Amino acid sequence: KSGFISIIGRPNVGKSTFLNRVIGQKIAIMSDKPQTTRNKVQGVLTLDDSQLIFIDTPGIHKPKHRLGDFMMKVAQNTLKEVDLVLFMVNAQEGYGRGEEFIIEKLQNVKTPVFLVINKIDKIHPDELIKLIESYNEKFNFAEIVPISALEGNNVEKLLEQIKERM
Ligand code: GDP
Ligand code: MG
Repeated sequence: KSGFISIIGRPNVGKSTFLNRVIGQKIAIMSDKPQTTRNKVQGVLTLDDSQLIFIDTPGIHKPKHRLGDFMMKVAQNTLKEVDLVLFMVNAQEGYGRGEEFIIEKLQNVKTPVFLVINKIDKIHPDELIKLIESYNEKFNFAEIVPISALEGNNVEKLLEQIKERM
């Protein structure tokens, strides 16, 4: 089994931390520079029975100018070409305008989307339940997976769920 996975989400939600954890320092090519390429392979995870290729897309955010608009279209097209989209959010921040904007962009994407709620080490379980409920109303996610990329909670389970979709 093998497949392409795109990780999207606002800055600082923990995308690089997650990739570092699953891929390891050696292979992961992390960059915080704005992306200009269409599909940038960030890391390849080779497991016994599968290969997961994590790619970076140009950031999804509200464009401030026409070039931004163009980059957004590139990012959206990329989402259609992958096997799975991981939409990562910060559990500490709740649902806001930034998340709403990304969800709007996901509406016409047929690729399955996992909502990955990161930084659960920072919040109370009751808050997590409320967050899951509010996200459930907004979009039909294929899975909603709470994790802590920093501490590793549930990361293995997320990888299993990813593999099931490949
Ligand atoms: P990115 O911009 O989405 O790639 O986010 P980064 O991976 O650079 O993470 C941004 C910040 O959040 C860093 O200071 C990380 O250490 C921190 N961070 C990432 N994941 C977690 C987590 O699960 N729990 C906590 N408490 N902090 C995290
Ligand atoms: Mg990053």
